[in-house]
Amino acid sequence: MENVLLVVSGPSGVGKGTIVKELLKKREDVALSISCTTRAPRVGEVHGREYYFLSKEDFFKRIEEKDFLEYDEHFGNFYGTPKSFVKERLKEKSVVLEIDVVGGLNAKKEIPETVLVMVVPPSGEELKRRLKGRGTESDGDIENRLARLEYELAQAEKYDYTVVNDTVENAVLAIEKIIEKEKSKRK
Ligand code: ADP
Ligand code: 5GP
Repeated sequence: MENVLLVVSGPSGVGKGTIVKELLKKREDVALSISCTTRAPRVGEVHGREYYFLSKEDFFKRIEEKDFLEYDEHFGNFYGTPKSFVKERLKEKSVVLEIDVVGGLNAKKEIPETVLVMVVPPSGEELKRRLKGRGTESDGDIENRLARLEYELAQAEKYDYTVVNDTVENAVLAIEKIIEKEKSKRK
């Protein structure tokens, strides 16, 4: 199959959401997999757009039904990738999963052709600025997310590609190149 299943990971606040949104605007041949989560929606988030917001009960039911390609717990909430959704979308388009490193590696175990892309910030200081600037988490939540930074970055070596999010435009171009390269390998 020529379409690419692409995992985009990286520390919280690095710009994954921003980059993926721009990529989807530019490319009609790329779709986003929408994850399920038990976290509460942030202001402006819409059910079925950013995430499917589920109760814990519904989430656990789906685990039992083996409906997740992978799932994990972060900051006390559960997040999972719906398997049937991804497989259906892949028939028509390349699919992006915006998930953490553990999830990415688990997805690759399940579907070995998965391409893993790590987005890194230009610096730790810049990441902190972006997290604060986004203004959606409390100081405690920001510290939690920064504490995970070293761990996330250390996992980059298990990934297929690293993309520095210096500017959104450059990062999007880098991801487009990765998709083209992976597609040409599969022809
Ligand atoms: P993530 O999805 O990785 O948690 P977001 O996409 O929400 O991160 O980005 C975090 C913040 O950083 C947002 O306020 C976003 O506008 C900003 N941001 C993203 N990419 C860049 C960039 N290249 N330069 C400056 N700010 C950025
Ligand atoms: P946030 O609450 O900031 O939206 O996401 C918190 C973390 O959950 C991020 O690291 C994000 O990549 C991860 N995440 C989002 N969706 C999924 C998913 O479907 N599976 C896994 N394993 N992690 C996810």
